Amino acid sequence: MSHAHHHRPERRQAADDDGGVSQAGHNKHAGHSVEMFRTRFWVCLVLTIPALIWEPMLQDWFGYRAPEFPGAAYIPAVFGTAVFLYGGHVFLQGAARELADRLPGMMTLIALAILVAFLYSAAVTLGFPGHALWWELATLVTIMLLGHWIEMRSIFQAQGALKELAKLLPDTALRLVDGDKTEEVPVDQLEDGDLVLVRPGAGVPADGTVKSGRSSVNEAMITGESNPVDKDEGDRVIAGTVNGQGSLRVAVTGTGEETALAGIMRLVEQAQGSRSRAQALADRAAFFLTVVALGAGVITFFAWLFFGATLDFTITRTVTVLVIACPHALGLAVPLVIAISTTMGAQSGLLVRDRRGLEEARNLQAVVFDKTGTLTRGEHRVVETVTDGIAENEALRLAAAVERDSEHPIAQALLKSAEESELKLPQAQGFGSLPGHGVEAEIEGRRLKVGGPALLKKLDIVAPSGLANAAARFGERGQAAIYLVEGKTVLAAFAVADAVRPESREAVERLHAEGIEVALLTGDSQAVADAVARELGIDTVFAQVLPEDKAAKIEELQAGGKRVAMVGDGVNDAPALVTADIGIAIGAGTDVAVEAGDVVLVRSDPRDVSRIVALSRASYRKMLQNLWWAAGYNIVAIPLAAGVLAWAGIILAPAVGAILMSASTVIVAINAQLLRGAKL
Ligand code: AMP
Repeated sequence: MSHAHHHRPERRQAADDDGGVSQAGHNKHAGHSVEMFRTRFWVCLVLTIPALIWEPMLQDWFGYRAPEFPGAAYIPAVFGTAVFLYGGHVFLQGAARELADRLPGMMTLIALAILVAFLYSAAVTLGFPGHALWWELATLVTIMLLGHWIEMRSIFQAQGALKELAKLLPDTALRLVDGDKTEEVPVDQLEDGDLVLVRPGAGVPADGTVKSGRSSVNEAMITGESNPVDKDEGDRVIAGTVNGQGSLRVAVTGTGEETALAGIMRLVEQAQGSRSRAQALADRAAFFLTVVALGAGVITFFAWLFFGATLDFTITRTVTVLVIACPHALGLAVPLVIAISTTMGAQSGLLVRDRRGLEEARNLQAVVFDKTGTLTRGEHRVVETVTDGIAENEALRLAAAVERDSEHPIAQALLKSAEESELKLPQAQGFGSLPGHGVEAEIEGRRLKVGGPALLKKLDIVAPSGLANAAARFGERGQAAIYLVEGKTVLAAFAVADAVRPESREAVERLHAEGIEVALLTGDSQAVADAVARELGIDTVFAQVLPEDKAAKIEELQAGGKRVAMVGDGVNDAPALVTADIGIAIGAGTDVAVEAGDVVLVRSDPRDVSRIVALSRASYRKMLQNLWWAAGYNIVAIPLAAGVLAWAGIILAPAVGAILMSASTVIVAINAQLLRGAKL
């Protein structure tokens, strides 16, 4: 029982985590919840109203008289104090925490502002000459609470995507017991080896292998693949994906922590928490702004006193400066963009493991692709067929039929190609292998042989010139030539090679369109590498590179002053992935155990490399815009708050300062959300 409890901690954690931006590098809201700010805001709003109604200054402005009774003069003081104690408490507590951490920031500024306003007003109410600032204090605190409430709600929404991932997993599964009976069990009670029934339209409860049934499954949420993927016996299914029309019986191979979904969520969380350069910059800017704000406050205070302003005017200006300069939005500018961009990436098959890699991607100048398994499938296929007197498909059908019982890699290539062309293979009789030469068998009454050049030599025959020329061409490209022979006649020549992925050409084109150079890195021969490079339009080729020298090639490019990304399958490419400015692991499928690489391409689609660049550029633009909205506006706002334009009658009340400051936060939050519309 206790075992079952350990199964889905992410889910619980994601649901409990209020705001969670603490993981994204700032923890000023630790322990504060959206509800807390909401409640305090409403209560303080109500408490503020009497403070406004009985405020003599407002009565003068609006020309009304509030009901008079003994003690009415103290109403603003009493309600102002209540707002300060109940609503301001949050900020005072936050400031205490910041000071304990020796990291004075926004909370410190707000606390200082309201404390100054409170102490001064209290002194005035108790007889000190001047003009109390009760209504200013009350509105300031109330607006600050409103700002925090809205802000925390936006953070909550930005982080919602992680929860959306968690929600993909159904709560219960239908477990099959003795044959055909089903029982409904909570997902965290599933164990490896259980057989579960996945009904049409239901979510897949665990990773597993299809035992029977046939359906198509929507895997978009995990792999980003938009087309439903056909599944039948033997295919793997992923927890969190959604079944289509058919029913599937699935043998469970991974539950809870071990599922691909859990792995993805771990990566997303890790990435959101990984300290990035942009975040470090924003934190420094926030600290700098705090110092500037404190300095500006002190200057404002002494400058107005020096020019002979009244103490209440001076204090009001100082409080406004402190409030408006709060680096509030600055704390959000970067984390919000990070939260949204990593989740966006995850939803379209780009798993960001290290933010730094993603940040670098916008400056990429060269992308190096490992050939095998990246631009190619890493499996041999028939890549070209040339025939003499028979149809291409017919030649492949016969050759594959001959190969059916052979274990040779060439046989596998022919069989897979025939299967992919949906050819139905006839039965073979009298199969025999000719070691070192090829195979033979009788198909539909015809005595056929399949083999390489050595077979022709042994049979002492030559291919017709058309086939011989084709074979020579295959050889130049480093591809194996395999012949289909009947008696003394060569019927067809097949080129067998590591097949290029259909997406690779477009992947290279897209990178070229962005002005990025593309290189190929492989241990294969120069001829093979050149042939692939020519086919795909790749600029530079590094052939016959030993695995241990791959990283050195990357360094070579970097020494030329280029920012280089390496795309590889994450196994023997690990050193090169780490050396590159951005390591991109491909071919991982849903096996998220990939440890090297800053970004993992879940779909193994090389075209996704250009989407990383697009995501990087879009999030960088958003961060810059946000830093401006969060901090840049202070260039205008601080002097205005200090009363530089007081001679022209333009002065800001503290509450107006708070509105501007909150507005900047809200703009930053909305602007970050707009990133979701970016085209990847
Ligand atoms: P091996 O030494 O078994 O790799 O075979 C040497 C050569 O014989 C290969 O490069 C092929 O040209 C040919 N060969 C061997 N087995 C087969 C087969 N099953 N199908 C076609 N060609 C074969």
